[in-house]
Amino acid sequence: MDLKRTHYIGNLNASLKGQKVIIGGWVEDLRELGKLTFLTLRDVTGVAQIVVIGDEGIKQVKDLNRQSVVRITGTVQETKARDFPFEVKSEKIEILSRAVHPLPIDPIGRLESNIDNRLNARALDLRNQKTASIFKIRHHALQSIRKTLADLGFIEVNTPKIIGSASEGGANLFSLKYFDKQAYLAQSPQLYKEQLTLGLERVFEISSFYRAEKSHTVRHLTEFTSVDIEADFMDYLDVAEVLETVVKNVFEHVEKNCIEEQKILGIDIKKPTAAFEKITYKQAIEELGREGLGLVEGDDLQDSHLRKLGEIHPGFYFLIDWPMKLKPFYIHEKEDNPSLSKSFDLQYGYLELSSGGRRLHDPSKIRARLVEQGLNPSQFEDHLRAFDWGMPPHSGWGLGLDRLMSVLTKIDNVREVVLYPRDPERLFP
Ligand code: ATP
Ligand code: MN
Repeated sequence: MDLKRTHYIGNLNASLKGQKVIIGGWVEDLRELGKLTFLTLRDVTGVAQIVVIGDEGIKQVKDLNRQSVVRITGTVQETKARDFPFEVKSEKIEILSRAVHPLPIDPIGRLESNIDNRLNARALDLRNQKTASIFKIRHHALQSIRKTLADLGFIEVNTPKIIGSASEGGANLFSLKYFDKQAYLAQSPQLYKEQLTLGLERVFEISSFYRAEKSHTVRHLTEFTSVDIEADFMDYLDVAEVLETVVKNVFEHVEKNCIEEQKILGIDIKKPTAAFEKITYKQAIEELGREGLGLVEGDDLQDSHLRKLGEIHPGFYFLIDWPMKLKPFYIHEKEDNPSLSKSFDLQYGYLELSSGGRRLHDPSKIRARLVEQGLNPSQFEDHLRAFDWGMPPHSGWGLGLDRLMSVLTKIDNVREVVLYPRDPERLFP
C-alpha cells in the first residue's frame, strides 16, 4: 500500500492551483453542507480545507470521527472560505486509521482539559497546536545549543546513566538492581565530564538525569534534561560567559525561527541584550538584609530568599562566589579568600537555571574536601586516579533544559515542557 504524500500541507499554496496533490493527516473538523462535505485536515506543518463531492466520498466520510487519519488525492483549487487561501478538491479518500469518539481530551483545545488529563493522553495532547509549539521550540532550542557549543570547540559526549557508585555524595540517588549488583541512576555527569577534559578538552552532554527527591514544585522533576559542559583552560567566569552566550543564542534562534509557534502561544521571545549582571553571594545577603530577611554569611538561600531576590532582579543574573561550605567537594576555592568558592548560579528571577564553577584538579585537595564533607575518598578512587594522569585545570556548568524552556515559553510548570514528565506521583504513561 502506497503511503507517500506529495506535499506537506504547509508546502501547499494558491499558486499550485490545478495541480494534483496527495496529502495526509488528521481530520480536525468535518461539516456536511448538502451535496458537499468540508474536512479540515491537519498535518504537523499546517491545516487545509478539503472539499468532498460525490456520493461515494461523502458516504466514506459520513461517520468519520475527528482525529481519524486519512490520505487525500485531490486538486488544489480556489476557495470561497475566508480562513483558507485555497482548498483541495478530493478525488480519492483513503481512511488509514479511525479515532474513537469521544476522545479522552479535546485536542483542539476548545474544551480546556486540566494538565493531568492532558499528560495522561500526551500523544493526543500534541495535536493541540499550543502543545506542539512548545516541543517545536524545544527542538530549536536544542539545535541552537548544539551549534553554539560545537562552534566554540566543544565535543558532544555521552556518559553512562547506570553507575556503580554514588558519584556526588549519594543522597537523592535512585538505586536499581543490576543483575546481582547494586547500581544507581546518574544524578549528573559531573565526574565523567571532568575526567573527559583530560582527553577531549572541551566536552558537552545533553541528557536525562535522575534525582530521587520528593519535591512537589513546578520546577523539580525526578527525571530532567540537563545540558552540561566542562572545559579545560577556563576559569569559572570564562564558562559563565559561555553559558550567557548559549542562553542568548537560544533566545535569538527561537525568536527568528519559531515565529508561528510564538503566535500560537501568544508570546514574544526577545533576545536579552544587556550583559547578565553578576551579584556576589555577599551582596545578595546584604540586599536581603535590607528587605528584612536577615541571613548570616554562610547560610544557604531558601526559597523565600530566592523569591525576594527575584523581585529585586526579575531577569537573568549570576549569583557568584558562594561560601565553600555550601558547595560540593569538587568546587575550587577563591585564591584570595579560601572560604569562598569560584562558583556561580545562573538565575532567572527566583528560578535557578544553572550551577557551575571552577573545579579542583589537585587530587590531594579533593581527598581533603571529601573527608571534610564526611565522604570516603576510597569510594572515589576510580575517579581520582585520572587526576594523576595529567588533569588540566577546568571549569563547567549544568543547565536545566526544562527550566530554560519554561522561561523561554513563559510557562511556569516544567511538566508542560517535558513530553512525559516523571515526578514522585507520576510514573505513567
Ligand atoms: P535546586 O536547588 O533548584 O533543586 P540544584 O542546585 O539541586 O537545584 P544542580 O545540582 O545545581 O541543582 O543542577 C544543575 C541544574 O539542573 C539546576 O540549576 C536546574 O536547572 C537543573 N535541575 C536540578 N535538579 C532538577 C530537578 N529535580 N528538576 C528539574 N531540573 C533540575
Ligand atoms: Mn544548583
